[in-house]
Amino acid sequence: MSLQRTLKKQVDLEGIGLHSGSPIRLRLLPAAPNSGIVFVRSDLPGSPEIPAHHKFVVSTQLATTLGLRQVTVSTVEHLLAALQGTQIDNVRVEVDGAEIPIMDGSAVVFYRAIQQAGIQTQNQSRAVLALRRKVELKMGEKWVIAEPSSCLEIHGSVEWDHPMIGYQEFHYQEGKTPFDDLAPARTFGFLKDVEMMKKAGLARGGSLDNAVVLDESSVVNPGGLRFENEFARHKVLDALGDFKLAGIAIQGFFRLHRAGHDLHRSLLTEIFRNPDHFEILDESSQSGQDQTRISRFQAAFVSRVVASF
Ligand SMILES: [Zn+2]
Repeated sequence: MSLQRTLKKQVDLEGIGLHSGSPIRLRLLPAAPNSGIVFVRSDLPGSPEIPAHHKFVVSTQLATTLGLRQVTVSTVEHLLAALQGTQIDNVRVEVDGAEIPIMDGSAVVFYRAIQQAGIQTQNQSRAVLALRRKVELKMGEKWVIAEPSSCLEIHGSVEWDHPMIGYQEFHYQEGKTPFDDLAPARTFGFLKDVEMMKKAGLARGGSLDNAVVLDESSVVNPGGLRFENEFARHKVLDALGDFKLAGIAIQGFFRLHRAGHDLHRSLLTEIFRNPDHFEILDESSQSGQDQTRISRFQAAFVSRVVASF
């Protein structure tokens, strides 16, 4: 039986927002069993909360943005990836701005801070959503094939007509692949796009300190790449983070090609659309009650936060 996990103690971090370029403070706090991951805008009156749940995704442009009643938190995916990689179920994430700080464009700063704080096992079993049918989704050149597996596995591939990228792939298996192989993989972008975004007032905080930037033929960053297939690794990292928005641990083998935040969100919607796609494994529940339980679990998670708004 696997038990739920939270942090042993509070974590404080500071960085800049990718979109705003402004300094942002982030605080991760231990949370009770079954409370899930909840984002809190500590800078706003009443400290409104948004659950880390795919129902609250309001944008997948450049980053994953969650929103509820005009309140948003952007760029949640790398922090969520660090929480997924360390299998943490319950955390209160307080942030004093509209985005999670970008740090170095990877999940490594969050990961190291979590390791330093330590992980607390809780006295409640962890419910797991196990995929039971094949689920496929295609959006133009992007696609995903999800199949049942005894653990969470993500195979990510990218294909780009660029000398530094070409075809790359990376395979992650929970409990087997060290998260150190994924956490430092940075987000990436092309110099021409970065310049265009800056002109449009977007990605004001974007720099070589928080992204791998590519020109026509090479990597602009003086330090080069952290891994030969850093691009594919980052794609897997993004998927791990976005899958945390299922609001429950997941078991399945996901093959993703050229995927992005929009495809990840659509995949979660598709999985939950049909109860035949999955079953809920929960050792604290009676067998045969799976569907009722997931509805209750999801409804309780969402309504508790909405009601407290
Ligand atoms: Zn990313």
